[in-house]
Amino acid sequence: MKRVIFPGSFDPPTLGHLNMIERASRIFDEVNIVLSVNVTKKPLFSPEERFKMLEELVVNMPNVKIHLWDKLIVDFAKKMDIKIMLRGVRALADFSYEFELAMTNKTLYPELDVIFLPTDPQYFVLRSSAIKEIAMHGGDISGMVPPNVAKAMKTRF
Ligand code: ADP
Repeated sequence: MKRVIFPGSFDPPTLGHLNMIERASRIFDEVNIVLSVNVTKKPLFSPEERFKMLEELVVNMPNVKIHLWDKLIVDFAKKMDIKIMLRGVRALADFSYEFELAMTNKTLYPELDVIFLPTDPQYFVLRSSAIKEIAMHGGDISGMVPPNVAKAMKTRF
């Protein structure tokens, strides 16, 4: 049974995230989304709000599970005995950051294999931080996030 973790902050989940999750659910037997509760970042949505949004998005994907986690991601993987981590990469800039992160995680958990999946071209420019900025200034984000997220953002701003 191939089990994978897909960690992130998902603040908020975008169509790019959803595309990764859908593809991962076809490649792996079990996909574990690890919603990191990062105390150093000031998120737009609470961990519980993000959890609920993700839950709505994966309702038709029975092999996808969501977890809230406030410690090191590798510790989650160890606890669950999962040895594969999936990360999405968009531009080259993502790659250098992700590569360093993968090296660090490998040091912390030598049995871990990190797999990079390139974004599908139509999601190339989707980034949670930019989407928040656009929404904050009243821009149309309906083509960038799933409808439940667009609704939540409209309410928030
Ligand atoms: P983090 O803070 O851990 O980078 P994010 O929520 O920004 O969390 O991203 C979670 C994962 O989703 C990361 O692997 C990221 O590269 C991937 N991702 C985000 N947006 C896209 C996208 N548009 N296409 C492909 N992968 C993406």
